[in-house]
Amino acid sequence: MKITMLGTGHALVTRYYNTCFVIEGDDGRKFLVDGGGGNTILRNLDLAGIDPLDIHDIFVTHQHVDHFMGIIWIIRVIAYAMCKDEYEGEVNIYSSAELIEKVRTVSELLLRPVEVAFIGKKIHLIAVDDGESRDVIGHRTTFFNIGSAKVLQFGFSMEMEEGKKLTCLGDEPYYEASEEYVRDSEWLLHEAFCLYDERDIYHPYEIAHSTAKDACELAERMGVKNILLYHTEDDHVENRKNLYTEEGRKFFSGRIEVPEDLEVIEL
Ligand SMILES: [Zn+2]
Repeated sequence: MKITMLGTGHALVTRYYNTCFVIEGDDGRKFLVDGGGGNTILRNLDLAGIDPLDIHDIFVTHQHVDHFMGIIWIIRVIAYAMCKDEYEGEVNIYSSAELIEKVRTVSELLLRPVEVAFIGKKIHLIAVDDGESRDVIGHRTTFFNIGSAKVLQFGFSMEMEEGKKLTCLGDEPYYEASEEYVRDSEWLLHEAFCLYDERDIYHPYEIAHSTAKDACELAERMGVKNILLYHTEDDHVENRKNLYTEEGRKFFSGRIEVPEDLEVIEL
């Protein structure tokens, strides 16, 4: 399997795209997680060599615009292709019941009626419960409420192969409610708003975010094998990878990835 990072920045970055990514299985099937904040998702998919019409499974973690609005663009592109009979098959969009209704409402408000008409027919808005498992790109995937106090947010844990799971906590730090999913993960996708050394500059804790140190300490404690850090500030574009990896290395003995936008990592 591999992961293509379409964006790696937090909500208000200008030098990265907002955090969103595609997980691709060995059979080439693609799973899009979040959409970033807008139309740049189409540009970055293009730059990554991923045809949006090859995407049939999508998950939206939460309603913040830096994750949500790109999803509307993806629906727009897929529905437009469906109008022209150029989209093969159907698309499943998963999220919490509360958020899936917002996806429906915004789509109905902003998209053309001929596009909206595909919702419920070939565009399936699928509400998942906390702890509910689904087959996604051929992998058993369990969606769960991360326990955010800010806004309802779901993460997911995907079985990569027998005994190996990839767990994504969206854009907030680990809360205890997620322990069964996070513990012993082969891969943990975790936000790192900034370096611990720069916490007094960025104040991550005031906005329910964490640092490279915090994420890596957690990974060590939870027996995680590999951690991927994303959803960062954008003041260190030239050397973010080194700075975050060096800080995390002091607290975590496993592999640390701090991908750039458009970077592809073999999982
Ligand atoms: Zn965010």
